[in-house]
Amino acid sequence: MKKHLLINGDWVKASEYRDLYAPYNGDKLAEVAFANEREINLAIDAADHATKSMAQLTAFQRAQILMKLVELLKGRRHECATIIAKESAKPIKAAIVEVDRTIMTYTFAAEEAKRINGETVPMDAAPGGENRIAYTLRQPLGIIAAITPFNFPMNLVAHKIGPAIAAGNTIILKPASQTPLSSIYLGELLMECGLPPGALNIVTGSGAKIGEKLVTDNRIKAITFTGSPQIGKKIKNQAGLKRVTLELGSNSALLIDKNVNLTDFIGRCVNGSFSFAGQVCISLQRIYIHEEIYDQFVTSFLEETKKLKIGNPLDHTTDISSLISEQDVERSLKWINEAVVAGAQLVIGGQRRANNMLEPTVLLNVPSTEKVSCQEVFAPVVIINKISSMEEGITEVNESKYGLQAGIFTNDLQLALKAADQLEVGGVMINDIPTFRVDHMPYGGVKESGIGKEGIKYAIDEMLETKLVCFRKI
Ligand code: NAP
Repeated sequence: MKKHLLINGDWVKASEYRDLYAPYNGDKLAEVAFANEREINLAIDAADHATKSMAQLTAFQRAQILMKLVELLKGRRHECATIIAKESAKPIKAAIVEVDRTIMTYTFAAEEAKRINGETVPMDAAPGGENRIAYTLRQPLGIIAAITPFNFPMNLVAHKIGPAIAAGNTIILKPASQTPLSSIYLGELLMECGLPPGALNIVTGSGAKIGEKLVTDNRIKAITFTGSPQIGKKIKNQAGLKRVTLELGSNSALLIDKNVNLTDFIGRCVNGSFSFAGQVCISLQRIYIHEEIYDQFVTSFLEETKKLKIGNPLDHTTDISSLISEQDVERSLKWINEAVVAGAQLVIGGQRRANNMLEPTVLLNVPSTEKVSCQEVFAPVVIINKISSMEEGITEVNESKYGLQAGIFTNDLQLALKAADQLEVGGVMINDIPTFRVDHMPYGGVKESGIGKEGIKYAIDEMLETKLVCFRKI
């Protein structure tokens, strides 16, 4: 079935299409439009034209559009989850969780649409500022270009479309080439919700081919990108004076202190390491645990890992399925082998299964210079290293070039406060894994994990212009 481009409220035929295959079994899923620069230009024209009608919608109307979408999504949970599971090989039970989070994300966007407000400014706080009344207006920027990754094809799109509509902007969405169907389905639903034509345009195709046009066109006022640091840096360099929000990768770490009750959280640690085969930006990749409980932790962690079921993403009992591509399986195996040669101990996994699946893999005592430690693995691979003090653990976490989120399990309040102060990340989870996220919290990294924040209220801030209005009393 052919999937066209969404431009100016219509599904427009493209000049070229590419076949899309399921990562799990290679089934052909669709023929998807492969946009060229001329078609991107049409989408930008449409978004530009729609800025006026979008800016004229009231906060109430924008919230209504988003709430209508929420209602439609609620009635199509299973359909949405099946699309996600097929195109990304996300196990269906995780895909259902993603759909439920997507519903929450749009609900928050609808609520926040009604809370966009400026402030009054005490102009007389400066000499010469007397006899003035001033306030700020928060106005939409215009066109937002949203570029999204494969791993949360519905919810990460929601984190861009929701705030952009809430703020009264128009959007050009370029979803990941491997997972365009979730976005296209979303586009179909949004067309039923009363959005002005041209307010949302969806252009599918190769980021390498059409990305530059999107990133450099002067009519686009902001770029919101979620994806790899490599592409994020490129976009930042090309964007000129546009606003840029970058949500990038990480090698997230967890510290575990002595004197904690392991049974309380072993399951969460295993889930955080292997959920969606580790293809989560805050996947738990590095665990640093106090030497006093190290052996006990490793034993329990391996017992839990052995319970995970590998298989078809559409099977409701599957925990882990295919990686997004064969190259990612090859790369992960290479990194695992390099770590073993460097002295790490492979205690479970490290084997390929049919259909581009990789067994959940645990490595112990991994040198920090190994790629499985210092790069983003984005596969079901976790390292567990022994530390003799929590201070040593904090240093290990901070040695990373990334800084998205970190977690620490401890009963020591002073240590928790110290970790919160000293860990160089965008979010610190005390007594939880770094993989924890709810969709309204401020979320975004430091260092090579990105710039700017998402979480609906925070993303809206990045998509608004503040204008000062000042009255002089005469
Ligand atoms: P990716 O390869 O960087 O691709 C992301 C998006 O960028 C895709 O739509 C891609 O299009 C597009 N793109 C590629 N080249 C481009 C260019 N030159 N100009 C503009 N756009 C371009 O990332 P991915 O493999 O899909 O996703 C995995 C990465 O995303 C990981 O690093 C992960 O940590 C990160 N991530 C971060 C967060 C967060 O919130 N911090 C959340 C999820 C994922 P094509 O698909 O056509 O190449």
